[in-house]
Amino acid sequence: MAPKALEYNATLVERVDVTDALTIFRIKPDQMPSELPWFVPGQYCVLGANNQAKPELGSVRRSMSIASAPEDDGPVEFYVRFVAKPESENPLTHLLWKIQPGDRIYMRPVAAGVFTVKDTIGVEDPRLKVLVAAGTGSAPFVSMVRSELRRNPDADLSKYVLLHGASYPADLGYRDELSHMIAHNKLKYWGTVSRPKEAAGWTGDTGRVEAFFDGARLADLEQRCGLPPGGFTPKNVVVYICGLTGTITGTVVPLIDRGFIPDFKRIREALGVPADAKDSVFYEQYDTEPVIDIKDSAVVEPLKARMQAALAKL
Ligand SMILES: Cc1cc2nc3c(=O)[nH]c(=O)nc-3n(C[C@H](O)[C@H](O)[C@H](O)COP(=O)(O)OP(=O)(O)OC[C@H]3O[C@@H](n4cnc5c(N)ncnc54)[C@H](O)[C@@H]3O)c2cc1C
Repeated sequence: MAPKALEYNATLVERVDVTDALTIFRIKPDQMPSELPWFVPGQYCVLGANNQAKPELGSVRRSMSIASAPEDDGPVEFYVRFVAKPESENPLTHLLWKIQPGDRIYMRPVAAGVFTVKDTIGVEDPRLKVLVAAGTGSAPFVSMVRSELRRNPDADLSKYVLLHGASYPADLGYRDELSHMIAHNKLKYWGTVSRPKEAAGWTGDTGRVEAFFDGARLADLEQRCGLPPGGFTPKNVVVYICGLTGTITGTVVPLIDRGFIPDFKRIREALGVPADAKDSVFYEQYDTEPVIDIKDSAVVEPLKARMQAALAKL
């Protein structure tokens, strides 16, 4: 049976089409939660819509990270990718792409999730925060740095390193805003494009975002972050990753050699991490593929050996 119709409780105020497949949606709930801040940067909301063209398909709801800052009292912002090859027969992104300012939508006016600094390492933790995003995975990180600036426009953001990967330069949403933060707030931000041949004039980094953690490139990143050689370890750094499995696995696996411990109980256990060792890499996953196939000993055993070797060195 198709999911029953949703009662709309919010209005799309504005949409900014970054490209044909990437859009910033600004949505105003009819009733804003009365107490500000009503969420913590890194949390998500559920958006939903009814399929009016095919009512037999009913409604669909999906989680979306909040890109606006909790201190904002205007519309709530979401950065969404149109999924060209959806898994469901009633994909939300296909409905979202039809809506225009003034149209109604469903937004659960409650934030959820623990992908926040507060819920992971705590706000007082002084370590460098390396934020790794592919595509729309930058949304929670945009919320984090925006929130700092809402509280203090001159905030020093040098404790944040935002690495953002996309296919083309035009897909690096929020680049102008983030560039301003580089210039004025010492944010460390590097965009990287995976299809540079099709991006004439691009002089920035190339390759997928997880490639920053490969072999020699990690030494380069370390230097850019102002760390001493070999200093990219959980002693100085905590890593947050947001997006699809490829980005998460591609970051978590090379960082095993530096002793980074993923915040995922079954992976920790499979890699033989002692129960009292603290997590140092946290992720928000937009799909459901396993990050590490812990049932496959051919995958797990070598990773376990690498983790044990790295922990012994720390
Ligand atoms: C906590 C959480 C927060 C999320 N926040 C965002 C967000 O801020 N922005 C956003 O665009 N999506 C986000 N997503 C993904 C979102 O919930 C949907 O899965 C996505 O929009 C596709 O939904 P759909 O109904 O259109 O397609 P479905 O029919 O549900 O298709 C799902 C397929 O889409 C793929 N997919 C999911 N997200 C993406 C993506 N961003 N790029 C490419 N492929 C994707 C999945 O691998 C899966 O194969 C989030 C997911 C979670 C769990």
